[in-house]
Amino acid sequence: MAQIKAPDAEAVAEPGEHERWLREALAEAALALAAGDVPVGAVAVCNGRVVGRGYNRKEATRDPTAHAEMLALQMAARALGGWRLPGVTLYCTLEPCPMCAGAIVQARLPRLVYAVDDPNSGAAGSVVNLLQHEQLNHRVEVIRGILAQEAQALLQAFFEGLRDGRIPSRSAAWRRRRLASEGQT
Ligand SMILES: [Zn+2]
Repeated sequence: MAQIKAPDAEAVAEPGEHERWLREALAEAALALAAGDVPVGAVAVCNGRVVGRGYNRKEATRDPTAHAEMLALQMAARALGGWRLPGVTLYCTLEPCPMCAGAIVQARLPRLVYAVDDPNSGAAGSVVNLLQHEQLNHRVEVIRGILAQEAQALLQAFFEGLRDGRIPSRSAAWRRRRLASEGQT
């Protein structure tokens, strides 16, 4: 069985560090909200500095892989010069989905810290646990529930905005356009 590598001393966060970086992730999530995407944000931190950041841009880019975590990991890999990110902690406002959890395992991240559980597609234990799967070759330390109320409030603001029309549903608009164009052919 693969050994779980202990995070190196530099990567161990001081008390309050997790909250500090999660606030950065929440600021990213707010950018998604402003752009009309589901507000999820992520920052990748290495040795006390942000090396990657991202917010959900799935609707804006019409890209199913444009999740906050993927964008933050891609930026971190570019910044650090390799796909393996052994000294990086990823801070997310929402429990990662299976795609992002897969990318976290691929990058050999030692630790994930996230705010709020995702009972619909969370892959850190809510639906599946890909981050501590016995048959995968890497396990990730998971810390959850920090600033959960703040992250939840952003998500609620988004879905309430969709319901009352303050936030336009891009995917709904896209579906309407597509149906209209199909009707014309
Ligand atoms: Zn994801």
